[in-house]
Amino acid sequence: MKSSDLYKVAKELMPGGVSSPVRAFEPNPIYIKAANGSKLIDVEEREYIDYCMGFGPLILGHKNPDVLDAVRKRLERGWLYGAPIEEEIELSKLIKKHFKSIDMLRFVNTGTEATMSAIRLARGFTSRDKIIKIGGGFHGAHDTVLVKTGSGGATFGIPDSAGVPKDSVKNTIQIPFNDLEALSNVLNGHKEEIAALIIEPVMGNVGVILPKDDYLREVRNLTRENDVLLIFDEVITGFRISLGGAQEYFGIDPDLTTLGKIIGGGFPIGVFGGRREIMENVAPEGDVYQAGTFSGNPISLTAGIKTIEILERILNDINEKGRRMGKSLAGIAEEKGYFFSGIASIFKVFLTESRERIENYEDAIKCDKRRYMEFFKRMLSCGIYLPPSQFETNFLSLAHSNEDIERTLEAYKNCL
Ligand SMILES: *Cc1c(COP(=O)(O)O)cnc(C)c1O
Repeated sequence: MKSSDLYKVAKELMPGGVSSPVRAFEPNPIYIKAANGSKLIDVEEREYIDYCMGFGPLILGHKNPDVLDAVRKRLERGWLYGAPIEEEIELSKLIKKHFKSIDMLRFVNTGTEATMSAIRLARGFTSRDKIIKIGGGFHGAHDTVLVKTGSGGATFGIPDSAGVPKDSVKNTIQIPFNDLEALSNVLNGHKEEIAALIIEPVMGNVGVILPKDDYLREVRNLTRENDVLLIFDEVITGFRISLGGAQEYFGIDPDLTTLGKIIGGGFPIGVFGGRREIMENVAPEGDVYQAGTFSGNPISLTAGIKTIEILERILNDINEKGRRMGKSLAGIAEEKGYFFSGIASIFKVFLTESRERIENYEDAIKCDKRRYMEFFKRMLSCGIYLPPSQFETNFLSLAHSNEDIERTLEAYKNCL
């Protein structure tokens, strides 16, 4: 069946025809049959150079042979025990080796679960209810973080989704990224009420938005002075911007960190971890409850360990490739009057009306989403699969060849 026919059937069976909203687009999403290296192959046998890469986990590309081999071998020994395994220790050690701020950690199944648990832990540890999050910051799809962004300054929790009780978000205060004044106003206005600030150190779910010079350092200073825990959500940046994530790259020690995506090598995973005195409060050691049937499963851990071992050798090469591609793409974007932003292997062209810098979500939402989707479809017809949203990041992988990149740059030139 063709993608358009499959989509018609799927829409009868699943809301919007998909298992996660951003995969849907009109007139129909492309149904994928297989993937290999940098390429997706659809059910109609068309091939695309993929810059979605499963929305981030596949930094080694699709079907990396070493990961495949490790997972195949691991499957032979069974795939779920409901009891501890050695790989938990192995992957913990690998993560700790690169994330100096993490003394202890807990494996979960998704990034959503990781941030949900980290926030619960911060609240339990501090005995405070309020949290601060950044407008446009994405931490998964649980109640506390599904908060609408209002315009300007600090905004108070209004649910961003039907079904989220007002009570669930009334303790979530939202402030713009790169805005220290907003942060210090909130901290001063709510002394001893705020458990934590959760932040993507490089915003990765509204395109790519970089922190201004010293922004993160000041965020660290202000949170510390006010006795507020700092949670770095490094689900995208971890093992990407550098092995030790944005915290290593920018030299900042958060109190808690959440990881996901890359560390499962393409299989479901999440991690939250941080300072020992905080992590000791997680059950069964402490009284902050957290649990999961599939947590620490052998397949995700095996794929994650293999992926990180490979990254230890080649992450610099991927990031150098990203830097070179970014430079060319920035030139093309600028020529067309658009804003380019990128770091390491993530990047985005923002379809802004003017050449304005994008410094936060409030800037990013001014982009022309309709025009982006037009651009996206032109790229598809050139055989390039971008994330189907102005707000989702492009992901470059180990598997993208120089030829892929040349073809992609040519397509950007023609389609923008
Ligand atoms: C993807 C993402 C999450 C959610 O992870 P899931 O595995 O999709 O639940 C959380 N935080 C950030 C920064 C993410 O990019």
